[in-house]
Amino acid sequence: LISFLEEMWCCSPSSITSSSVKTVFVNKRVKMDPKKLIKHIVGTNGSHPAEKDYVGFATLPNQVHRKSVKKGFDFTLMVAGESGLGKSTLVNSLFLTDLHKDRKLLNAEERINQTVEITKHTVDIEEKGVKLKLTIVDTPGFGDAVNNSECWRAVTDYINLQFEQYFRDESGLNRKNIQDNRVHCCLYFIPPFGHGLRPVDIEFMKALQDKVNVVPLIAKADCLTPSEIKKLKERLREEIDKYGIKIYQFPDCDSDEDEELKRQDKELKESIPFAVIGSNTVVEARGQRVRGRLYPWGIVEVENPSHCDFVKLRTFLIRTHMHDLKDITSDCHYENYRAQCIQTMTRCVCVCVCVWQDDVYDLHKLKHKSDILTMFAAQRV
Ligand code: GDP
Repeated sequence: LISFLEEMWCCSPSSITSSSVKTVFVNKRVKMDPKKLIKHIVGTNGSHPAEKDYVGFATLPNQVHRKSVKKGFDFTLMVAGESGLGKSTLVNSLFLTDLHKDRKLLNAEERINQTVEITKHTVDIEEKGVKLKLTIVDTPGFGDAVNNSECWRAVTDYINLQFEQYFRDESGLNRKNIQDNRVHCCLYFIPPFGHGLRPVDIEFMKALQDKVNVVPLIAKADCLTPSEIKKLKERLREEIDKYGIKIYQFPDCDSDEDEELKRQDKELKESIPFAVIGSNTVVEARGQRVRGRLYPWGIVEVENPSHCDFVKLRTFLIRTHMHDLKDITSDCHYENYRAQCIQTMTRCVCVCVCVWQDDVYDLHKLKHKSDILTMFAAQRV
């Protein structure tokens, strides 16, 4: 025991007496602060003051940091909303990349019967040695057809498919290198021209609310005056409440967090839905080169907080809440999907066993068997 204490607390054998060993046990029971405990055993006049107070587990966060930086991060962002609302421009402005250079725009005739198709672009970006694999999932065709009923189905199918793939990989043999393609956040673009939510907006957000973190945005906010933006935001918040739409909920700030962070957090929460402006061009404003839109009557600056919420959106999405979005996806949305899958599988297996144990030639049971097969096929279990 003495040699163990010597090793653990780096103290000399002469400083350890049988009474100090006794004290360890007594103090262990009363859960003494380890720092005080070391001082207690070694004495305040020990020979290695720095080592005495330092066991080493304080480096754990650094170890985690180093490991995750080496591994890199991934994030999948979905953008949805009618075409022409500025989705591609905003994504390019957010990540300073051109993700849609080879995009083919359809004419009106081609769009009449267009179904929603899902496209995926992946870029590897690096900043200060930290690598991020960013995947942008676009939903061209959403809300563009004459009949838009159930136009959200392609999107929900896509999200389910990613969950399904992850579930399979997780249950497979090689669990080490699973590629996570689950959608972590969906930016939903609401047009600035209306008087609130349209039926298609309500349907879409309701269909997605339990599968992905939905963040509503007011697109092309430069079309509105500040008071119009304020009014539209209030209206949208009221309607989101009224129709019971579950959008992404910001986690509460810890009470011991510093005041500046608490203020920032409150401001972010109050800005929902973010009113955003996008631009791929750099213009000159107040003697500086800024990302903005040049109009005959002036310049609207994308990164100017008094012009729009672009900076708030970027802060939320990249700097403060990216990890929370991933955690909610994994711990909440994916967990729900997984629980449902396991429940269905268990039910199917139970029914299967019952039916196969019984008389195979019983026509009534055979009907059940076909039902089970249909169930398996539908659930892709
Ligand atoms: P998407 O089809 O939703 O991806 O829309 P695009 O990004 O292709 O943008 C469609 C058009 O809207 C382009 O002419 C853009 O220059 C313009 N646009 C994009 N963002 C904004 C914005 O914030 N305000 C205004 N007024 N126009 C925008």
